[in-house]
Amino acid sequence: MSYDVTRDPHLATWRERIELNIKLMRCPACNRVGYKPYIHPDGTIVAEECGKCDHESSCGYHIPPKEWFKEHSQDGDHTNPNYVPPPPPPAIKIDRNVALQVYCLGPKAVRNPLLRYWTNLIRNVAPKHSDTATKYVERMKAALRQFMVGSLPGGYTVWWIVDETGSIRSGKCMKYRSDGHRDKEDKFGFRWMHRSPLVGQQKEGAEYVGCLFGLHQLKNNKDIKEVQIVESEKTAVLMTMFKPTMTWMATMGLGNLNQYRLAPLIDRGIHITCHPDIDGYGKWGDKVEQLKHDCPEAKITLSDYVKDHYYAIDSANTDILDEFERDYILLYSP
Ligand SMILES: [Zn+2]
Repeated sequence: MSYDVTRDPHLATWRERIELNIKLMRCPACNRVGYKPYIHPDGTIVAEECGKCDHESSCGYHIPPKEWFKEHSQDGDHTNPNYVPPPPPPAIKIDRNVALQVYCLGPKAVRNPLLRYWTNLIRNVAPKHSDTATKYVERMKAALRQFMVGSLPGGYTVWWIVDETGSIRSGKCMKYRSDGHRDKEDKFGFRWMHRSPLVGQQKEGAEYVGCLFGLHQLKNNKDIKEVQIVESEKTAVLMTMFKPTMTWMATMGLGNLNQYRLAPLIDRGIHITCHPDIDGYGKWGDKVEQLKHDCPEAKITLSDYVKDHYYAIDSANTDILDEFERDYILLYSP
């Protein structure tokens, strides 16, 4: 059977993208990494623009070969063996001193409603268990130190996004209410730290490139065999308090469970255990299956923990931290 260039090229798999060194290829439409070009069996790319963006809902770019050749049929030779992807733009790098200035346990730290909520919860719930409460408060401080969590005036917590080399790529600055939950009513309740005046000038053309929240833990610990993945930063930090012997990281969004974000773990052969929010099982279940298919070397499993520990009275978007919080109250309240 002959090879039909308009029908037979396939979307590059993860393995092929590593081999071809096009892991960080960018979508022609949205310019984000997470883009699969169509390739021929010999590994040549049909064309840079002929591919599919991973950001299906927010971008949706998809030009299959058939469509591409319809537009470019006069080009003759349809393969491009000499294609070299452009180098990625410089990544934003935030000075560590900025993080130290706003550090939530630092000498000038401002009031932080999220941390106040958790400290009060730990102490007030367990008046008869002051040793336990003290142990948890100490563990919480250790977790806050480990993630260098920051506080800014107005009730903001800063979750720094630090990669496996220790470089600060950005931070998410989020407003919390006194009940420990996000203030989503306030339209200024969220901002990116790489756009904050606190951070100062960046290199010309520098871009924010996302990574897992908590990835910096790989830097000084070569022995990590398993990582627990959750969706929210708050959950990763506070689960480090509840389960300090485990390594917790967050995707920072339901849609961010993908090969790009997980690559530093997959490349190190680390086992990845995913704990979705109760309403995220469908989507993460599909993602885990897709990852196993696209990337057979990935050791990844979907944990049933949140599902198995969910009570009917819990909220519809309960996550693992909500369950540990509930169980702490049940266990220690008088
Ligand atoms: Zn796109």
